[in-house]
Amino acid sequence: MQEYELAIGGTWRPAASGATYETVNPFTGKAWARVPDAGAADVDVAVRAARVALDGEWGATTGFGRAALMRRLADIVERDAEKLAVVETTDNGKLLRETRQQTAGLAAWLRYFAGLADKLHGETIPSSNPDYFVYTREEPAGVVAAIVPWNSPLSLLHWKLAPALAAGCTLVVKPSESTPTSALEYARLFEEAGFPPGVLNVVTGQSAELGKALVDHPGVDKIAFTGSPVVGAAIAASAGARLTPVLLELGGKSAQVVLPDADLEAAANGIIAGIFAAGGQTCIAGSRLVVHRDVRDQLLGRIVDRAKTIRLGDPLLPDTEMGPLANQRQLDIVLGFIERAIAAGATVVSGGRRDPDLGGLFVEPTILADVAGDAEIAQKEVFGPVLTVLDVGSEDEAVAVANNTEFSLGAGLWTSDVGRAHRVAARLRAGTVWVNSYRAVAPNVPFGGSGASGWGRENGRHAVDEFLHTKAVWIDTAGRTRDPFVLG
Ligand code: NAD
Repeated sequence: MQEYELAIGGTWRPAASGATYETVNPFTGKAWARVPDAGAADVDVAVRAARVALDGEWGATTGFGRAALMRRLADIVERDAEKLAVVETTDNGKLLRETRQQTAGLAAWLRYFAGLADKLHGETIPSSNPDYFVYTREEPAGVVAAIVPWNSPLSLLHWKLAPALAAGCTLVVKPSESTPTSALEYARLFEEAGFPPGVLNVVTGQSAELGKALVDHPGVDKIAFTGSPVVGAAIAASAGARLTPVLLELGGKSAQVVLPDADLEAAANGIIAGIFAAGGQTCIAGSRLVVHRDVRDQLLGRIVDRAKTIRLGDPLLPDTEMGPLANQRQLDIVLGFIERAIAAGATVVSGGRRDPDLGGLFVEPTILADVAGDAEIAQKEVFGPVLTVLDVGSEDEAVAVANNTEFSLGAGLWTSDVGRAHRVAARLRAGTVWVNSYRAVAPNVPFGGSGASGWGRENGRHAVDEFLHTKAVWIDTAGRTRDPFVLG
């Protein structure tokens, strides 16, 4: 059993209460690590440590200095990417093939935002009054609370941490109760890179009270959250009461639109990748197949053939194509959605059950057809390997059905007609549209949604603006006394 401690203010310590809990490997069903079960008292210490760093050595570090530390961290994270990947797979059951790719990619986020850290300057603004010299300063927003889910813990942390560090902020990170270990491992690498104490603090715990304590702490200046719409709304409400700004990356019910001129082989492959990679446990899961009737049966045949051969098994093995769901709660949620969809009249085209051979947290790759556009299974995020098929008869109908959702995170579009590709991409209501591809993300490309998918954007050069405050400075160069009752 691995033992972990909290990383707070450059020290390693147990929870103030001394409480711990065990984190479970979803493939074996066995506990493999013991981590602190932190509470409000630990959050308080962590937020204070983050403030001390902000007001001290880190706050005095220039953009060049921050960039140098971030690049050093990138090298260290790259060195230990394999270890971090194994830790994440052990905690969440995601394929090692995929977590490996994700942890190997973390350095790219650090390097991209390090490249911005030394370029964050204000500007001089000519005033209509020649007696004024006016300029702006870009200052860190302050202490950031970063709260992340279990499906891609370190990747989603980097979408916040890299721009926040570039901006000069400090962080208190709360990973998911299901995947607490990779952030604690990461804190060791952070320390090795030589950041001042308190820049990164990690609190782990199994109770929702921990996240609430962090959100409600008066010392937090900005909340960056990735998770479910329900929790996102609760965070927005309590942050709103304190007027703390919130960045929200929430769920999705992304459409994969297939038009009759699509390359069906490529589309089938992209649809499989969109919904069955990572067992559908991604916010951008392409969970609604919006397909033109002219090609529906042909396409569905290819998808079903491939879905039936997906190899379920140990996520650490290189041949496995789908691992278990991450935890019992998620299994219950996914099976509940499937049962209700069948009861409401959906036809099971493939799968539809807990895997009869593997049992445990394994669900068969599932395809459901004959579903109405407003049915629960076509509207709610399942966060599991369940594809819902919606038939359409025209481009206009495809756009209308794809847009018939409260979410707007991603969309896939499969067509060979370049004009149609641009035309439909413009009409799809989604923060990202992938044309003849799916699931590509990069540090320099904005990502996010609106409505139930969240507020704001991560990644891309403007992501750093989320973590900056602009200060305007007015200097009177005339040096004379003004009329106190005249503005300006
Ligand atoms: P979740 O909302 O249950 O939990 C997310 C995080 O919030 C966890 O760390 C959890 O402990 C914490 N939390 C729970 N209650 C809280 C509260 N009241 N106050 C503060 N923090 C609280 O989500 P999950 O089940 O871990 O992850 C799945 C969800 O995340 C899905 O909806 C998925 O779409 C979404 N997601 C979104 C993106 C994106 O970038 N848009 C990426 C991945 C996952």
